[in-house]
Amino acid sequence: MAAPCAEMEPAAAPPPSPPPAAAALDAAALVCAQGRNLKAVLCQRCGSRVLLPGAATFARRELLLPAMRKKAAAAAAGGGGDGDVVREHWLVRDMFSFENVGFTRDVGNVKFLVCADCEAGPIGWHCLDDKDSFYVALERVTHE
Ligand SMILES: [Zn+2]
Repeated sequence: MAAPCAEMEPAAAPPPSPPPAAAALDAAALVCAQGRNLKAVLCQRCGSRVLLPGAATFARRELLLPAMRKKAAAAAAGGGGDGDVVREHWLVRDMFSFENVGFTRDVGNVKFLVCADCEAGPIGWHCLDDKDSFYVALERVTHE
């Protein structure tokens, strides 16, 4: 049991953005009326808890993520240039909203998010130009 250090406080004022229209995918089943994640977000590989329910909001944005590797560091270090365009994300506004998360070292002005325990990833994307936006790709995590 990892001792959770996050408080279950609703992160400040909710953003005034309207709830997103029902997404294709099965995102509809994962998003509550306020546009937040209904389920906990877990690492696909080891089950490590990344986000608690309600910690993120659903967001659509086209981001290019390197292909999943066991060690995301290897992916970030280059290698191939193969990747996926990911469009559906959990947007986290505060790094302390994460239960567990790791980062690759900077790639340009971007850091990729990886599992804090097993380093599977990248599971998400963060740009140093926008310090209050962390994107976690829906298709790269498990929901429980
Ligand atoms: Zn993991």
